[in-house]
Amino acid sequence: MTAHKILFVIIDGLSDRPCPELGGLTPLEAAKKPVLDRLATEGICGIMDTIAPGIRPGSDTAHLALLGYDPHTYYTGRGPLECEGSGIHMDAGMIGFRCNYATVSPAGLIVDRRAGRIHDTAALSKVIQEGVDLSRFGVEFTFRSGAGHRAALALKGEGLGHCVSSNDPKKDGVPPLTVNAVRQTEEDKKTAAVCNEFVRQSTAILANHPANQKRSADGLVPANIVLMRGAGEMGQYEPFSQKYGINGSVIAAASLITGIGRAVGLTPVPVPGITGSQDSNIDGKIRAVIDELKTKDFVLVNIKGADEAGHDGHVAEKKAFIERVDTALVPLIPLKDCLLVVCADHSTPCSIKDHSADPVPVVIWGEGVRVDNVTHFDERACAMGGLNRITGAALMPMALDLINKAHKYGA
Ligand code: ZN
Ligand code: ZN
Repeated sequence: MTAHKILFVIIDGLSDRPCPELGGLTPLEAAKKPVLDRLATEGICGIMDTIAPGIRPGSDTAHLALLGYDPHTYYTGRGPLECEGSGIHMDAGMIGFRCNYATVSPAGLIVDRRAGRIHDTAALSKVIQEGVDLSRFGVEFTFRSGAGHRAALALKGEGLGHCVSSNDPKKDGVPPLTVNAVRQTEEDKKTAAVCNEFVRQSTAILANHPANQKRSADGLVPANIVLMRGAGEMGQYEPFSQKYGINGSVIAAASLITGIGRAVGLTPVPVPGITGSQDSNIDGKIRAVIDELKTKDFVLVNIKGADEAGHDGHVAEKKAFIERVDTALVPLIPLKDCLLVVCADHSTPCSIKDHSADPVPVVIWGEGVRVDNVTHFDERACAMGGLNRITGAALMPMALDLINKAHKYGA
């Protein structure tokens, strides 16, 4: 019997480099993780370059690669994927931006790039959506709040380019920048003009909004300007169901990952209490996974907190979070008829506080795998496993082969 379903558990930024604080072990090696070790013992292990050896992946490009969408072809910047993740449907050719609400002083200087980490901005986004008019450019737009101070902007219209700069000066105490065309084409110049007009009109609307007057009265900084960055043109994604003949869902706290899922045609599944941080509701995510697998052939779940600990350089927190994840995975063990793949999207070593190109550990567990001699799920143990060293692009084809959905190449 082979399994019929595939589950990808992607533990974001899981892997690391040897840490002096842990006597030369990585947080994953040092963590107590009986479930992951059991999967390694009963499965086939390896290490994986999610994009290619020596390439430091972003979470976005890594997830595209793991889903079998070559990021060199499909990745067109973060903006359009953030738009999808915010629930804006992006047609190919639309231009997307990731945005923040920020605070500008009466003197015109940015004083808080996150507007005091404001949340619940839906009312503000609604007045912007209703009040800003870009019709003289022949452009329609959708502006939507994301988590916290975040938002997304999508533009639709003829003759728009996607190579434009940001109005975010990336520091406080200076004025917002003007959005400029990067390539000096007519298309980019038009998009830049549209962006500057959007900022001008939305700033005027935000200045007088009662929610901001109330914030000021409460001693909070107002959310009175929108900063935008990450411009990109939405690409044409071959739908997942067409590409592989199976349907699927995506479960993630980060709108970027949900957006990638939506872009390829996976169904996003909301889970209450997921934060993308170390306090996230992992148990709720795993329950949602089990629920989705009742009706779907494929589920990708992203668990984010280890990446955050890596970016912060917090070795002990990273180890503790891995132990929490391990416990949360217990309900997956009795899963029947499902091939389980556990891996990271990239390493986030505490020593460099950013993503690195160090390959990630991967285990495939389920009916039919050639069980190897690896008994621990970690960076060095998995390097001795039966998968050897693979690329992210190989993962979907290998999983499809194991569930008997691969097509024969040749006679
Ligand atoms: Zn990541
Ligand atoms: Zn990261």
